[in-house]
Amino acid sequence: MRMRKCPKCGRYTLKEKCPTDGSATVSAHPPRFSLGKETKYGKYRRAAQE
Ligand SMILES: [Zn+2]
Repeated sequence: MRMRKCPKCGRYTLKEKCPTDGSATVSAHPPRFSLGKETKYGKYRRAAQE
């Protein structure tokens, strides 16, 4: 099963409709992408501090 996310309230769910407000959810991107980005930023930040 894929993780889905409600664009309205930002809640993560496995259902196609948000259990909170009934909005149609969209499939959430795997956290791999943002993780790589964060690492990159972290490196940059570190370099700037040193
Ligand atoms: Zn919602």
